[in-house]
Amino acid sequence: MCKRSNCPPGGCLPASPPDCMTIPQLRELQLRRLQNVVSRAYDRVPLFRNRMNERGLTPADIRSLDDVVKLPFTEKVDLRDTYPFGLFASDMADIVRLHASSGTTGKPIVVAYTAEDIKVWDSVMVRAFACCGLHRGDVVQNAYGYGLFTGGLGFHYGAEALGATVIPISGGNTDRQIMIMRDLGTTVICCTPSYFVHLTERAGEMGIDMKQLPLRAGMFGAEPWSEGMRQYIETRTNIKAFDIYGLSEIIGPGVAVECLGRDGMFVFEDHFYPEIVDPKTGEPLPEGREGELVLTTLSKQAMPMIRYRTHDITAFVDGPVDCGRTLRRIRRIKNRSDDMFIIRGVNVFPSQIEAAMLAIDGTLPHYQIVLTRTKGLDEVEVQVEVTAEIFSDTVGAMQALQQRLASAIERTVNIRVKVRLVEPNTIERSQGKAKRVIDKRRI
Ligand code: ADP
Repeated sequence: MCKRSNCPPGGCLPASPPDCMTIPQLRELQLRRLQNVVSRAYDRVPLFRNRMNERGLTPADIRSLDDVVKLPFTEKVDLRDTYPFGLFASDMADIVRLHASSGTTGKPIVVAYTAEDIKVWDSVMVRAFACCGLHRGDVVQNAYGYGLFTGGLGFHYGAEALGATVIPISGGNTDRQIMIMRDLGTTVICCTPSYFVHLTERAGEMGIDMKQLPLRAGMFGAEPWSEGMRQYIETRTNIKAFDIYGLSEIIGPGVAVECLGRDGMFVFEDHFYPEIVDPKTGEPLPEGREGELVLTTLSKQAMPMIRYRTHDITAFVDGPVDCGRTLRRIRRIKNRSDDMFIIRGVNVFPSQIEAAMLAIDGTLPHYQIVLTRTKGLDEVEVQVEVTAEIFSDTVGAMQALQQRLASAIERTVNIRVKVRLVEPNTIERSQGKAKRVIDKRRI
């Protein structure tokens, strides 16, 4: 049990020792785990072994933590290319759970967990909750989507392991969310920040004052959000809004989280080794510089990830903390280094929309995706040029095409979009890379 007097009440109890280790102890643990995970991946994952061999490396070459930079990167495309099971390092019989998230071509990316991996996931989620002062007796309304997305089950089992009472409501059905929140005495809400803004606004329309509810904390993640959004939420409710970060490839939610001090997110470094690299060159950046977060899983059995390029932009945060945690912190994720955008917690790549759209006759490869936020809810409008023949067709034919396009896009990316057909040459042409996404979302 943690002996530090400055740990928040209920905040550092359930899983505190790894959070408050001395730096030499932590580095020693990380090195031992790094060596194990590299050996495991080398022995069991052909793609990783081949890349090591190409560099003339063997696991024995990893003698210190600094040697991590010798290791090859892993990219999202590697998961796609080896879909579905090519990066697994465990026998199927030892895998107890699969999750999936969308990939660049619409082909999902599959991630796997052994029973031991699930225990680690639960433990980092318990630590994440504890970091934000959550404890037994809290009533946690989990409005992340349940299913293949890691958000739902990740938060669910973590909150149960903490000893909290979980309401597994999943996403959507806003009026019901508000009724449940009021009637069952929810104290903690877990969902995307944009969805919570929507919940708050809808509650207002229903004549419910969020400030009168027992709701006291929100665990918000899965998409970028800003300090402005935090202020917006906190002035309209009595909650403290916490940032929590994670990604399926590494484990799901629970990679990093804020504490009560809310000055950067602590990375659970004993399981996830963080580096910040130059997104263009992949070279490690000096401490404190902003760049791309690269993560290595130190304990994952089913699917070890070595130097995974997250494409998420952040920086290490320096300076003292009050809570006594010794883990390194990262700044709130600012944006992605690629073109991907996130709508209601779902990752979407313009290329997916393009592929769905262009499969339908009459469309031209000139389009723009406009993202807006109305009452806290993200909306997508796809403006697409169509041939002159189509444009001079009857209104009925135009509407039918619009509908077909919207359905095709929804089938591919799992989100509803509005389609607007425009005349040829309406959309601005670019000299270099086309600007596909116009993000008009504020706060
Ligand atoms: P999917 O691919 O199914 O949408 P993931 O959960 O794997 O699901 O998405 C992970 C990505 O979500 C991260 O790489 C990051 O870009 C984004 N993300 C997750 N948490 C946060 C956060 N707290 N702030 C900003 N972005 C986040």
